[in-house]
Amino acid sequence: MARMRILVTGGAGFLGSFLCQRLLADGHDVLCVDNFFTGSRDNVLHLLDDPRFEVMRHDVTFPLYVEIDQIYNLACPASPIHYQYDPVATVKTSVHGAINMLGLAKRTHARIFQASTSEVYGDPTVHPQPESYRGSVNPVGPRACYDEGKRCAETLFFDYHRQYGIDIRVARIFNTYGPRMHPNDGRVVSNFIVQALKGDPITLYGEGLQTRSFCFVEDLIEGFVRFMAAPAGVTGPINLGNPSEFTIRALAEMIIELTGSRSQIVYRPLPQDDPLQRQPDIRLASEQLGWRPAVPLREGLVRTIAYFETMLRGADLHVLPAARAPVRLHGGAPLAVAAQG
Ligand code: NAD
Ligand code: UDP
Repeated sequence: MARMRILVTGGAGFLGSFLCQRLLADGHDVLCVDNFFTGSRDNVLHLLDDPRFEVMRHDVTFPLYVEIDQIYNLACPASPIHYQYDPVATVKTSVHGAINMLGLAKRTHARIFQASTSEVYGDPTVHPQPESYRGSVNPVGPRACYDEGKRCAETLFFDYHRQYGIDIRVARIFNTYGPRMHPNDGRVVSNFIVQALKGDPITLYGEGLQTRSFCFVEDLIEGFVRFMAAPAGVTGPINLGNPSEFTIRALAEMIIELTGSRSQIVYRPLPQDDPLQRQPDIRLASEQLGWRPAVPLREGLVRTIAYFETMLRGADLHVLPAARAPVRLHGGAPLAVAAQG
């Protein structure tokens, strides 16, 4: 494959760091752009010695002038507690970020990938969710800044495609987990694993009967790369996720078993608009990309637990570097977000 200059926005985040690593391994030059709101240099520390890797602190809500061949647009907080921390900034990141990156794609004639989400389906009334399902999103609820921001970004991608012929790839990503998730980012897999390893109560929201379908990060990144390499005209939207569906209670029980933890399950109120069920229909990904996930939940959890065990052994969560600690989010806005006003 020809060597390309590839921009990854949100490249210092959980998924972005794995993507940068994969693209470097494939022989490309990678420019990682991130404002470090939820991401961290720690996530890409192991890549910094590679002369083909470059990190730039930049907020995608502002224009960016670089010369590149491809763009993966991942910049956006993904965990509900993070995207609800500054909802206006979340909308701006999705919408202004999409406009800026699409403008960059237009000027440079770059192919551009959008990290969209299963949240565009909201609390779905169709199950499992195919790409043709138009969704059931509350436009004024606490999750709307993320859901509607991502929906508007999809609209922009398709309008730039129709109006200017931009070569777009829109992936709807379902819940993905793995090493390098932020230990305090509030998403269910990292929450439960950290709680189990520390012997803290496992916080189950509602009765835990809501479902999610969890994809291991390496499987997902393979889907990204295949989608980007697909022939012209394969625009998506395409669902990327693991169709094996679990209740959140079953997830809690599996993590307790795999960690051998003595943690007890405690019940907390279900957050507003929390989707009751979610499972990707991945027939399109299978037909158009020849892709399907290979790592079962149990195996992916074992690998993720090993990562968090190592991390917790080496670090008290309270003394983790500021960029990784929640206190930064609740005790004062990170600089980049404050600057967006
Ligand atoms: P993450 O929070 O770990 O990564 C997001 C990255 O974007 C972080 O490094 C953050 O600092 C950066 N960022 C946020 N706002 C920015 C801005 N204005 N300018 C520049 N950088 C900014 O989350 P993730 O799980 O790696 O998610 C990556 C992308 O994938 C997101 O767009 C998310 O919506 C999408 N996604 C993820 C999942 C999942 O399960 N992980 C599911 C659906 C969609
Ligand atoms: N959840 C939970 N306990 C937690 C964190 C999350 O029961 O400590 C539930 C949450 O209510 C949701 C599911 O787990 O039903 C997945 O939550 P997450 O924030 O990971 O992702 P999303 O809701 O965006 O799919």
